[in-house]
Amino acid sequence: MKILVINSGSSSLKFSLFDMKNEEVLAKGAIERISEENSEGIFVSGGEKERIKRRIKDHFEAVIWAEEILSERKILENFDSLSAIGHRVVHGGEEFTDSVLIDERVTKKIRSLFHLAPLHNPANLAGIEAFFRKAPSVLQVAVFDTAFHKTIPLKASVYALKYEFYEKYKIKRYGFHGISHRYVAKEAAKYLKKPLKDLNLITLHLGNGASVAAIGGGESVDTSMGMTPLEGLVMGTRCGDLDPGVLIYLMQEKGMDADDIERVLNKESGLKGLCGMNDLREIKRAFDAGDERAKLALEIFCYRIKKYIGAYFAVLSRVDALVFTAGIGENSSFVREEVLRDMEFFGLKIDKEANDSGKTLISSCDSKVKVLVVKTDEEIEIARECLRFL
Ligand code: ADP
Repeated sequence: MKILVINSGSSSLKFSLFDMKNEEVLAKGAIERISEENSEGIFVSGGEKERIKRRIKDHFEAVIWAEEILSERKILENFDSLSAIGHRVVHGGEEFTDSVLIDERVTKKIRSLFHLAPLHNPANLAGIEAFFRKAPSVLQVAVFDTAFHKTIPLKASVYALKYEFYEKYKIKRYGFHGISHRYVAKEAAKYLKKPLKDLNLITLHLGNGASVAAIGGGESVDTSMGMTPLEGLVMGTRCGDLDPGVLIYLMQEKGMDADDIERVLNKESGLKGLCGMNDLREIKRAFDAGDERAKLALEIFCYRIKKYIGAYFAVLSRVDALVFTAGIGENSSFVREEVLRDMEFFGLKIDKEANDSGKTLISSCDSKVKVLVVKTDEEIEIARECLRFL
């Protein structure tokens, strides 16, 4: 049984093909810079990586090319032979609290949520529509990044604005990275040999985008991202938490309009805004070489994470484990050590050697709270969701 998982961005289409008999990855690929002169495909299968340049006009052409590549290499006959296609959809709004089989009604609803995620949902839908054109008879499933957070109670999700903003405009905390938070929570439960429903966890997804989730009894009870993925932690290029008064000041006194603000907050802030770099490896190298701004950026980044951990300890009252994941969470022992420095009061003690040597369990044996590093796998989580509909 073969399942294709799709992550469709505004100018890219990423895919992973699974054989679900043993959850084996048969191939992975990414078609990048769609609609630009220099579009390119990167394909990986059987340990071989290929880069092919080809002008790709739109998502539909990208889908046709992906099929061609897979069939030429005899990995898959064609997309019609798939058992299902799983699409990552960023924003499910209040409508979608679980994965759904996609039909016309669902695509209409995803469209109606464009205003909540203007950077993501239109791109996700472009992928869905392209696959509907190419392989209309194959079952397609939408898996939402917001769905895992549906259990967050109103006290943690409704902003203290006029209540009608929530009622009329649906302005509230939805939270994101839910597919990853749920996957690593399940993996942590397996590692700890306990049912997820008996666990209280703090999961830290630290990549270019970053968010933290408080998981109580296996369910999301709070998370740092809000109505959009801008709130919360400091990210590669996004600011995270900010006094809304700053925006009023920038608009009234500095002549910025909504487009300027959107650009600044999404693309020119965060680590990049602070030190001119958004790749953590580069920032760490600059820090090691004595760059003061890189040092400050790292301090602010880690301090914000620490603050959320403290807050979520208060929210959960008992914490069984902290789970680090995604590019930075999985790979930066430096960030993990800084974040966990002086947290003995919370029952958190890091084992420096385990942390530096890439182990899963990085807390010391006398740490009351376990600390785990778990590699996230959003693709397999989406593929498993598809199985529920087969
Ligand atoms: P995305 O949100 O784009 O999926 P990733 O999860 O791939 O992001 O994470 C990207 C971040 O992870 C970058 O800041 C990158 O520098 C960082 N990263 C990746 N590998 C390492 C590493 N070995 N050490 C430190 N940071 C790393």
